[in-house]
Amino acid sequence: MPINSIQERFAKRLNKRRAEHLYRQRPLAFSPQQPQMKINGVECINFCSNDYLGLANHPQIKQRLIDALQNDQLSYGSGAAHLVTGHHLQHHLLEDELADWLGVERVLLFSTGFMANLAVLQTLAQKGDVLLGDKLNHASLVDGALQSDADFKRYPHRDMAALEKRLQQTHAQQKQAIIVTDGVFSMDGDLAPLHHIQQLAKDYNAWTIIDDAHGFGALGTQGRGSLSHFGLSADANTVQIGTLGKAFGCSGAFVAGSNTLIESLIQFARPYIYTTASPQLNAVAVREALKIIKSADNKRQKLQTLIEQFRTGAKQLGLQLWDSPTAIQPILLGDSARALRWSEQLKQQGFWIAAIRPPTVPQGQARLRVTLSAQHSAQQIQNLLNALAVCIESADS
Ligand SMILES: *Cc1c(COP(=O)(O)O)cnc(C)c1O
Repeated sequence: MPINSIQERFAKRLNKRRAEHLYRQRPLAFSPQQPQMKINGVECINFCSNDYLGLANHPQIKQRLIDALQNDQLSYGSGAAHLVTGHHLQHHLLEDELADWLGVERVLLFSTGFMANLAVLQTLAQKGDVLLGDKLNHASLVDGALQSDADFKRYPHRDMAALEKRLQQTHAQQKQAIIVTDGVFSMDGDLAPLHHIQQLAKDYNAWTIIDDAHGFGALGTQGRGSLSHFGLSADANTVQIGTLGKAFGCSGAFVAGSNTLIESLIQFARPYIYTTASPQLNAVAVREALKIIKSADNKRQKLQTLIEQFRTGAKQLGLQLWDSPTAIQPILLGDSARALRWSEQLKQQGFWIAAIRPPTVPQGQARLRVTLSAQHSAQQIQNLLNALAVCIESADS
């Protein structure tokens, strides 16, 4: 093979991506993360963050951080991996508090959700096992499954008959089945049928991994996530993964499960062992966020009211919504160019909503992914609906 420059290798690929309307750009924020933002120098209302409860810029958490830097025995950075000197008292207390909150034996912190998913899948799934994943699982679950030594099979989105069929096959081969699913699907907003999945797991002695990145904080009693939303709780063969960068408004992730699971991750999970612990200060912020989340029924209630207002209004406009009860409310537009056009038109009217295109979503399912926050006002939702009406009426919509 000839040795080419990087330029030669990528120029064609980048041009192709542009031509397909799939080129991605990073909007530049000039303000704190909140509904009212300045992005690319323009004032707008942000309808695409995952800050569901408005904690990313919460005064109570900011004040706690200022106090912590002045008064607590801590630094900003953690300086090393958890197994070296990076595991600070603040991390330790946070793990205990998260475990208490969820009613699980133990919790382990990770620096990102992506790494937590890689760690859980690589460690839990071994050669001879079969991972059974929902077709629309998050990219990190797909990568984790592909990198593990287990077989990996996907089932159509939320299709429990298809899942059962694969469980039967795995059972007949006397292999360990591991069901892997998002709790709330990140690009669709719908929920995994966890009652059904839990029953199937029992029937076929399967283990269950639930990535509840968008459920924790936003759903369930005290924000305990999707299982709690359905009135379920985790058994010894269930692993839950949460992120701290969404409803928690901070950064990082956690895995919740049995003591044996957590000890195994500490011993064997490479994405845990060989990386720097998240900043000490982040653990302080998450502890404060957890306090707020536990008593944020009013915020969750308000969010629910806004979701209903948006859905009712969007349906009246004739927009194609998903069957989503959560703060993630996609509007299906089909082709990528159309999604970009709408996103651009909304921007001109002062609303920031990302066009989500393949490969993040399947071909022909480009969409606007509207996300709502308890920080939004009813008036802002109404203004967004009015702006969407303008998009519908415009000639090239
Ligand atoms: C965001 C997300 C992740 C990744 O978490 P990060 O902490 O952002 O790396 C994993 N799974 C799902 C379902 C997500 O939405």
